[in-house]
Amino acid sequence: MGASPLVHALWMSAGLSCDGDSVSMTSATSPSLEDLTRGIIPGMPSLVLHHPLLAYDNGSEFLQAWYDAEAGKLDPFVLVLEGSVPNEQISGNGCWAALGADTVTGEPITTVEWLERLAPKAEVVVAVGTCATYGGVPAMRNNPTGAMGLPDFLGWTFRSRAGVPIVCIPGCPAQPDNITETILYLTMMLAGQAPMIDLDDALRPRWLFDRTVHEGCNRAAFCEHGDYAGTYGDDPRCLVKLGCKGPVVKCNVPIRGWIRGIGGCPNVGGICIGCTSPGFPDRFMPFMQMSNKVRASTAMARFTYGPILRLLRNESMKLGSKEPPWRRPSDHLTSGYQPRWNLDDRPEKLVPKTYTVDGREARFYELSSTECVRAEIAEGGYSLSWSTSLSASEWLESLHERVGNAPEALGLVILRENLDSRGDLTWRETRMLIQDPGLTPVLVRVDLGSTGLVWKTGLSGGEGLWQVGVTAPWFDYDLFKELMVASASPLVLQRVMEVLEDARSVRRAQ
Ligand code: SF4
Ligand code: SF4
Ligand code: SF4
Repeated sequence: MGASPLVHALWMSAGLSCDGDSVSMTSATSPSLEDLTRGIIPGMPSLVLHHPLLAYDNGSEFLQAWYDAEAGKLDPFVLVLEGSVPNEQISGNGCWAALGADTVTGEPITTVEWLERLAPKAEVVVAVGTCATYGGVPAMRNNPTGAMGLPDFLGWTFRSRAGVPIVCIPGCPAQPDNITETILYLTMMLAGQAPMIDLDDALRPRWLFDRTVHEGCNRAAFCEHGDYAGTYGDDPRCLVKLGCKGPVVKCNVPIRGWIRGIGGCPNVGGICIGCTSPGFPDRFMPFMQMSNKVRASTAMARFTYGPILRLLRNESMKLGSKEPPWRRPSDHLTSGYQPRWNLDDRPEKLVPKTYTVDGREARFYELSSTECVRAEIAEGGYSLSWSTSLSASEWLESLHERVGNAPEALGLVILRENLDSRGDLTWRETRMLIQDPGLTPVLVRVDLGSTGLVWKTGLSGGEGLWQVGVTAPWFDYDLFKELMVASASPLVLQRVMEVLEDARSVRRAQ
């Protein structure tokens, strides 16, 4: 068939159907139902959808399209079935499903009869939902209706007028975008703008159903590691022990999500029950139990290679989480890193600079202009600071090496640059410093940020932890020292000294 300006779709939900697929289709977004029917997709023929749930017409006016299709006046048209085919000839027992009534006899026109009238004339025949494709829930063992899927009714080798096999879009219900995307493809195909649709053995579009649920599931790594959830709820691990059938079911829902990429059974904690498979539901029941084969495979993963995989990956992850050594200061610089200091160049002996504040003496030890500053505040107590370029452990190592353990240390000042970006790390480092046995756990912290000069006066903090805040637009070492001295006069220093005195008394008492 050449390019066509108009394609009709006759949607029959008159199979044994709960209309769930129609409802599902209304939430499609890629493309949406509106996109399909409003002619906004370039190259796509106009689509006229005759749908019992969405039509404004009803009664004989609505049915006119069906009669026109039968009479060859609605050409071309795609016939869509939702719901399974109840074959009264098998059940021999009345009428199970029908659409409209014969105008002469007044008898209902059964679904089977419509299918026999229209399927040979349709350009393409589509089955939507697992009921229509393979029989689904109404076709479970012992059902009284003789229900079956469309390929079982028309024959798996059926070809439409355009030579196309029955196109099956299973799912209970079918994923919304899978429905609209397939309809879009078929209309483009009928317009000569797409090749013959590629279907798998179960007549499903291959591009939608080529991968298993498991292959797209966001819990798959847990499964591979033998790490399984034992109960429903927030547990993010693999659901296979709760009955998930994802490893053996072809469905793209975990990849595509449900609406706008959100959802998708196991992704959001629901086990896969195999609803897109021809054997659904009988072959997947009881849904919430593992089969013996699954039990064996989970045990294998859990007690053999799973933990080994996890261990090896954790090791690799630890390694991958560290920067390579050539980004560190060293003799072998390969990444252009320019260290701002060299630990080996530090003077052997530290010479303090002495300041007098309100008659008290404060001594500062300078390790380098940007590395760290050690300040000793009067009477043998001292405070310390370091720039964030060294880690706390490096800094402590350097300090102990240079000035020895400092059991009499009474105060600690930590200089932080970029307070906001390093907040967590700095606090972690701060804790390390507080816990260091060589330092008295009294802390004065100075924050040197980059957003303007703000000098917080006074001290804040809890037990053993005192904080002074400085925010300056640049790191000015001399300014810092002056601020330190200024901050210590008189209020801050007074408070620091009080705390230090207390600490010293406690220590003496011990
Ligand atoms: Fe309803 Fe599921 Fe059947 Fe669709 S496949 S008609 S959603 S029961
Ligand atoms: Fe596979 Fe199901 Fe586990 Fe996901 S939850 S990884 S689909 S078994
Ligand atoms: Fe059905 Fe499983 Fe796909 Fe969910 S993930 S739609 S239960 S086949």
